[in-house]
Amino acid sequence: MRLKSIKLAGFKSFVDPTTAHFPTNLSAVLGPNGCGKSNIIDAVRWVMGESSAKNLRGESMTDVIFNGSVNRKPVGQASIELVFDNSAGKLGGEYARYAEIAIRRKVTREGTSEYFLNGTKCRRRDITDIFLGTGLGPRSYAIIEQGMISRLIESKPEELRVFIEEAAGISKYKERRRETENR
Ligand code: ATP
Ligand code: MG
Repeated sequence: MRLKSIKLAGFKSFVDPTTAHFPTNLSAVLGPNGCGKSNIIDAVRWVMGESSAKNLRGESMTDVIFNGSVNRKPVGQASIELVFDNSAGKLGGEYARYAEIAIRRKVTREGTSEYFLNGTKCRRRDITDIFLGTGLGPRSYAIIEQGMISRLIESKPEELRVFIEEAAGISKYKERRRETENR
């Protein structure tokens, strides 16, 4: 599944609606320091359900909303949409019939957080479920940030196991078992 585009509005430094297209299998985001490159990565993680503000380099979840600049007032909400190419049917089951999967998350200053799947409101869980076992997802190895390689090399066997289980596609079943046991 390939990320085709990302649409940002009111998210961190992207106050005006902005769309970035990733037309090929390899894309690079370039720009001077502070121009918002890492904010785009934060946005990808955020839509996929990241619930820790710290992992998005903020204090609280509403920190992702544009909080004003010299010339602009803060805005009341942030919204991000990711569009994935599913034409090869990588995402099976009920999603196989969609050539494109669009996931959107919206948060307001009041703290409400909503998720949408191909335009229909859904639960956070519906979004995280899609990515479990695919290697994608908010904390997955699909997003390799600064320092992560050395963290992997230095990690304890049980930490490394989490990545191997995700790559092998069994983390999904472990998650299901955990849920069943907790019921
Ligand atoms: P570097 O090359 O240094 O890694 P970068 O391109 O990755 O830079 P980012 O960290 O993505 O830059 O962007 C930082 C900018 O985003 C800063 O100017 C910061 O003020 C701005 N920013 C972050 N959060 C918000 C927010 N909630 N509202 C407005 N601006 C924000
Ligand atoms: Mg950066």
